[in-house]
Amino acid sequence: MKILTSKQQVREWRKSLSGSLGFVPTMGYLHEGHAELLKQSVAQCDNTLLSIFVNPTQFGPNEDLDRYPRDFERDTQLAKEIGVDAIFYPSAEEMYSVQTSITFDSGEMADALCGKSRPGHFDGVLQVVTKLFHIVQPDDVFFGQKDAQQLALIESLVEAYDFPLHVHRVATVREADGLAKSSRNVYLSESERQEAPIIYQALQEAKERYLQTDSREKALAHAREVISTKTSGTIDYIELLSYPNLKETESASTMILAAAVFFSKARLIDNLIIERVSTHA
Ligand code: AMP
Repeated sequence: MKILTSKQQVREWRKSLSGSLGFVPTMGYLHEGHAELLKQSVAQCDNTLLSIFVNPTQFGPNEDLDRYPRDFERDTQLAKEIGVDAIFYPSAEEMYSVQTSITFDSGEMADALCGKSRPGHFDGVLQVVTKLFHIVQPDDVFFGQKDAQQLALIESLVEAYDFPLHVHRVATVREADGLAKSSRNVYLSESERQEAPIIYQALQEAKERYLQTDSREKALAHAREVISTKTSGTIDYIELLSYPNLKETESASTMILAAAVFFSKARLIDNLIIERVSTHA
């Protein structure tokens, strides 16, 4: 397995390949969620590249850029075991060596959910993903449904701006108790870790209410009640929107029920996609 640190090395490696290239962009500190994306790429593509880059432009001034967990040795070992062909591991200086006045504006899809409490976050995500797609030139890219708003924005970017690649959606990988796997779970205290699966339980119960009553209000009120009474976390948002276009609507054929909850050192997100079966003939 190759470790590539410059854009030039990636370009040369890309040119030397035969067959398709699958690409999995990450911020490292890999867990089984990332492993699932990598396994799907290895199974479906002739070659697989993993990138590990904690992208500064997607972090706000008071966010966890400096303390974001890192373990390159362990990540390398895991990637090797899965059959990854190369890792792109650039520095911030390498990625942002050229200054420009051109910026990204994610528009109104970034006004909902995480975009509300993380202004500029998705502009940074689309910026780095665009750069990575151009450097790597993959045929297939793999993103997790765990970050559903990010996935929706990337699908929109790829479609609207004609990136010649296919975006694969990968279902959220969870701990045995239902907590969505996340590099940020290490920030949880022992008692917060015990409570954290309640977010997923609350979303599941709210989904059932929504399907039974057809009422967004009732579903959201239930999820709010469960999370605020059964955890010590503070709700950032709980929303039920159409998916992937993230509009407030009573009913769309595909909806997303999403939550973000602040614990003392971690902000956790989770979501469920709800497919509504039409009862009309
Ligand atoms: P990150 O390193 O957090 O930027 O995540 C890199 C990729 O892994 C993104 O496409 C995430 O959506 C995906 N991912 C993170 N956690 C999970 C999970 N629990 N299940 C599936 N995919 C995930």
